[in-house]
Amino acid sequence: MVEISGLHKSYITGTNSLHVLKGIDLTIEAGEMVSIMGSSGSGKSTLLNVIGILDGYDKGEYNLNGKVIRDLSEKQAAWYRNQMIGFVFQSFNLISFKNALENVALPLYYQKIPRRKRNKIAAEYLEKVGLLDWATHLPSELSGGQKQRIAIARALISNPKVILADEPTGALDTQTSYEVMELFKEINDSGITMIIVTHEKDISERTKRIIHLKDGFIEKEYKTKLSLNYA
Ligand code: ADP
Ligand code: MG
Repeated sequence: MVEISGLHKSYITGTNSLHVLKGIDLTIEAGEMVSIMGSSGSGKSTLLNVIGILDGYDKGEYNLNGKVIRDLSEKQAAWYRNQMIGFVFQSFNLISFKNALENVALPLYYQKIPRRKRNKIAAEYLEKVGLLDWATHLPSELSGGQKQRIAIARALISNPKVILADEPTGALDTQTSYEVMELFKEINDSGITMIIVTHEKDISERTKRIIHLKDGFIEKEYKTKLSLNYA
């Protein structure tokens, strides 16, 4: 699914250059559920943004589902993202003046699917995340956990092969965080690859493999207890 070798990335601002990824080698198989762990500033989001084709890289190789991701035009990158990837963020990124159903349906709007049809499909995804009763509510009327479930339904609606989540539990209390991780596990059980960035140990332990990032390198990686349950 994800094959990365010798990947480097620096940020250049003015005359300063910050070398963030210093030779990353990483393979993630289809169907895995992994976390990328590391302290703040260790390059987790940078790596996830490269994987999600939201940002480029300077050196190395990146292969996504057999396709070399290199020098894509913005249009090509958008096409691959739409075909392959669902995104979930710490801050939910819902549209405040659209209700839950409309937020979930949004990717289908961009695919020019007629309203009646996209609302029907969105209702099915709302039901999958247990929020059909909240369809007409605005984000401001929902709890953090409910907002993240809406965002997850929105990520699922375009049938991604992989979900990339950047600190998805960062704004949630512990109990709600674990519920979101349980939902991710169900999604993973349905065959979707999950890549979750977190700096919280207890969250990473709810994935099947932990990849530790430190100072621009993968410091160590190992399978968790959760992976053993599936052996
Ligand atoms: P993490 O997600 O692990 O907290 P990031 O990948 O966001 O870390 O950031 C890694 C380093 O790169 C940090 O020092 C951060 O300040 C810097 N950085 C991140 N994004 C940019 C950017 N767009 N321009 C310049 N520096 C950046
Ligand atoms: Mg980050």
